[in-house]
Parts: sequence; C-alpha cells; structure tokens
Amino acid sequence: MDWQRLFSEHILSRGYDYFCDGAVGELKKTNGVLTATVEGSFDYSVAISFEGEHITDMDCSCPYAEDGSYCKHMAAVLFKYNKNGIEINANEGDDTDNANVSADEFAILKEVVNILDMETLQKELLSMLENDQNLSTAFMLRHNKNDESISQYINNKRKNADSI
Ligand SMILES: [Zn+2]
Repeated sequence: MDWQRLFSEHILSRGYDYFCDGAVGELKKTNGVLTATVEGSFDYSVAISFEGEHITDMDCSCPYAEDGSYCKHMAAVLFKYNKNGIEINANEGDDTDNANVSADEFAILKEVVNILDMETLQKELLSMLENDQNLSTAFMLRHNKNDESISQYINNKRKNADSI
C-alpha cells in the first residue's frame, strides 16, 4: 500500500512526528473504514475509507482538511495502521506475539549490536532499509534534514509507483 505518495513531504513528516509522539489513539476498522482520534492542541477524528488496500476517501475534523486537503492527522493514522499491518503479516502462521521485543531479548540485542563494527552495522541497516519501504521512509524523514533530497526521494518513489 503506497499511501505515502498521497501526501506532501512536509505533511508526511509532521504526521510521522505525531505518530512517534503516540498521538494516534486506538485504530478501529469497520466496513472498510479506518477511524482513530489524533491528539494535539485539539483532538481530531480521522476516518479513512478503504477498498481492499486502496484508499478511496479520507476525512479529518481539523480546519486544514475542511477543503478536502490531506492533513498530518491522516498521515499519522496511516503510519500507525501501516506499522500494525506489518506486525500482523510478520505474525502470520506464528502463535507467538512478536510485535515487540521483550526487555530480555532487547538486552541481548543490545549486546550483539554493541560488538559489531560500524561497517557491518551500516551494511545490515542498509539491507533492512532496502527491504522495507515503510522503514526507509521513516528513516529518511527522521534523519535526512536536506529537504531537497527528501523531495527527490519521494519523487523517485512516485515514479517507481507509476511505472508499476
Ligand atoms: Zn487533520
């Protein structure tokens, strides 16, 4: 689901901040409509209609979305939805709940990561980013402060998506 191309990079980045801050409430999906409340200076209700995995309509109660614009609240909800979607897929055919690494596992992970050299770490990270579009977009938004290259990156993604 390549929903990120529906938003400008600025809105996408603000939405990602909201998502990271835990501003998105519980997601509910009934009859193909995904709803959630996003907390900020005010609470806004977001509703996103799906047909299969395709977004057909998006609404938000904030002033920015009044004229039909896609706002940061919608992006925030989709970041959360996308994240949950990935977790559900990863759990397919597996009874254990591995949505989050346990504290014990994390301590071991930390030890392992600490002894790896920089070159190996960079290689590992790049291969993870290459294979996960959501993760790579999140990474770009968080670490790349060069607006021009973010625009370029998102435009490339658009081109790729159009050519499919
Ligand atoms: Zn909004």
